[in-house]
Amino acid sequence: MARTLDIVPVSEWEFFTLPRPMVIAGPCSAESEEQVMETARDLAARGIHVFRAGIWKPRTHPGSFEGVGTPGLKWLKKVKEETGMKVCCEVATEKHVYECLKYGVDMLWVGARSSANPFLMQEMADALQDTDIPVLVKNPVNPDLDLWIGALERLNRAGVRKLGVIHRGFSTMENTQYRNAPGWQIAIELRTRYPDLPFFADPSHMGGDRKYLLELSQQAMDLGLEGLMIESHCNPSVALSDAKQQLTPPDLLTLLESLQIREKDSVDQDYREGIDQLRAQIDIIDENLLYTFGSRMNVSEKIGEYKRTHNVAILQTGRWDQVLAGMKEKARKYGLSEKFIEDVFNAIHEESVRVQNEVLARGPQA
Ligand code: PEP
Ligand code: MN
Repeated sequence: MARTLDIVPVSEWEFFTLPRPMVIAGPCSAESEEQVMETARDLAARGIHVFRAGIWKPRTHPGSFEGVGTPGLKWLKKVKEETGMKVCCEVATEKHVYECLKYGVDMLWVGARSSANPFLMQEMADALQDTDIPVLVKNPVNPDLDLWIGALERLNRAGVRKLGVIHRGFSTMENTQYRNAPGWQIAIELRTRYPDLPFFADPSHMGGDRKYLLELSQQAMDLGLEGLMIESHCNPSVALSDAKQQLTPPDLLTLLESLQIREKDSVDQDYREGIDQLRAQIDIIDENLLYTFGSRMNVSEKIGEYKRTHNVAILQTGRWDQVLAGMKEKARKYGLSEKFIEDVFNAIHEESVRVQNEVLARGPQA
């Protein structure tokens, strides 16, 4: 079922300046009035218009710094008044929502641990009824696109129309160098379903280390996402949370200036003709791939028949390991990555086993 969201275009929020990226920056946590004001003044002087700071912090272990709570909202108010920046913070309960509305916070975001929880989402959606405040929803910690969409739907049904998303990567068993696996394919899927939803990436929580921020931000821009939320602290080494991933305001500016922003599309005639030709080639190749997959599965079916008549088990793992090793070897010659070839051939093999199982399920040969 195609689900729709009724949203207000980000150009009408009057929050962000174009061209891309739209930037939200500020410390992981508001720690003290001095730290908040010093960071905010420096960011504002460097042209940042939207300031973030966590007031209530969802921490893995109790006893870690859990945020300064409501007093921090007064500092955000001061940032607004003194620098003219818009301010935003994370909300996770209806109480947070009411407090933020009371202190004139301009925008809210829902964190990854809360967007995974429909009860909390509904509670916050109810608290946001009849307000006009923009809300950005981070992806749930686990890579579940429907859960993310469900969170957006709850808010939208409660009348939140200034709605956007922040992609911050996923907790997975996968071994990655990043704190949270980027899983860009889920972002791409969401973007394809809701092309008008303002889309931010959060390279800070994805990377978990400032050394990854540039490459992840560039990837987000190359995917055509509109914005970046990046943690910035006046003195990252003494930050009370996420010290390793925060940038000083000058370093943030250097990062933003290093980004290569490519056009989302071009009306240039040569470009259009060139891209149309290349896409036509791709379409033909994809059609050929389908034909080849079809032929491959026909042979798999015959193998299934053959095994059935000779009463042989379907899975001979030794044989598959050999095939895969051979394919990886050849892949190099074609400039293909081992990982890609492994993924593709494992998918083909899985389907082949399924087809053979189907043949076997027809019962013993008469
Ligand atoms: C944050 O933005 O400070 C935060 C806690 O992020 P996430 O919900 O992505 O972990
Ligand atoms: Mn953080």
